[in-house]
Amino acid sequence: MAHVLIIGGGPAGCSAALTLRLRGAEVTILRSGPSALEKAKRVDNYPGLPEMAGSDMQKSFTDQAERAGVVFRNGLARLIQKTRRGFTVLAGEDMIKADAVLLATGIGRVARIRGEDALVGQGVSYCATCDGMLYRGRPVALVCQDSSFREDVDFLTSICPVDYYMEKPHELPAGVTPAAGRPTAVRAEGEQVILTTEDGEKAYDCVFILRPAVAMTTLLPRLEMNGEAVRVDEKMRTSVEGVFAAGDITGGPYQAARAVGQGNTAALAIAQYLNEKGENK
Ligand SMILES: Cc1cc2nc3c(=O)[nH]c(=O)nc-3n(C[C@H](O)[C@H](O)[C@H](O)COP(=O)(O)OP(=O)(O)OC[C@H]3O[C@@H](n4cnc5c(N)ncnc54)[C@H](O)[C@@H]3O)c2cc1C
Repeated sequence: MAHVLIIGGGPAGCSAALTLRLRGAEVTILRSGPSALEKAKRVDNYPGLPEMAGSDMQKSFTDQAERAGVVFRNGLARLIQKTRRGFTVLAGEDMIKADAVLLATGIGRVARIRGEDALVGQGVSYCATCDGMLYRGRPVALVCQDSSFREDVDFLTSICPVDYYMEKPHELPAGVTPAAGRPTAVRAEGEQVILTTEDGEKAYDCVFILRPAVAMTTLLPRLEMNGEAVRVDEKMRTSVEGVFAAGDITGGPYQAARAVGQGNTAALAIAQYLNEKGENK
């Protein structure tokens, strides 16, 4: 049976998952946190579910998907790689294999520090697990946005001298002393990366940046974008064969009903794609 990985468990992801289950696919939803819908105090414009709190509506979507046999996993998708047969997705510390992938990650705005984009893979890394060993014993900076990266922090501090910077104020992992200053920019200088903070500059062999969200072009570098939105066609196909997108990640208007509709369209297109590939048997 074909396996579809849906990244994001909001309205778009849950809607797609239901239809894909009806079409006979195995479906996993990977989610890194609450959906935008859960933040809505009250939703008045969703048909059939009047005056409902967003959190209740999300719960009803999730419960329905679970009853349909969708597997939910918690974790942040960090990298999608195309393989000979399908895709491998790095999620937290795990690799998940899939025949097709649906991006349903919501609004994809990820704050960055100046110069970061140009140095990805050349002194800036988003993955301590993937790249940490390359810098074993060498001075690195770890820029964290929140306290959810315990394993990465433990791993990196066990193999490298690490300066820990807070991109936003948060509770520190036990045993960690923060370096002074909020990071504002990175630039290359010879073999090193200079990290600028509000307090000055310091050179490192690598700057690891860990945030609870991943820019789409980091997740899948060949993905074509329309500004902040993933470019899709009428079947929600992206520029990468086998990767589809639905919901707020494809642009506005940012509405639950639109996300659900796009999730459904994407699911039908994925089922067709898998049938054509001969995978959905
Ligand atoms: C305060 C507020 C009020 C709103 N009110 C209304 C309203 O009244 N009516 C209406 O129609 N709409 C409303 N909306 C908009 C509506 O909630 C969104 O349009 C809808 O939730 C979009 O669904 P989605 O599935 O595309 O994305 P989301 O609901 O944002 O879900 C995205 C999911 O993807 C996960 N994710 C993101 N990146 C990754 C990653 N790399 N790896 C794993 N998981 C990841 C997130 O954790 C999240 O669970 C409101 C939104 C807000 C914030």
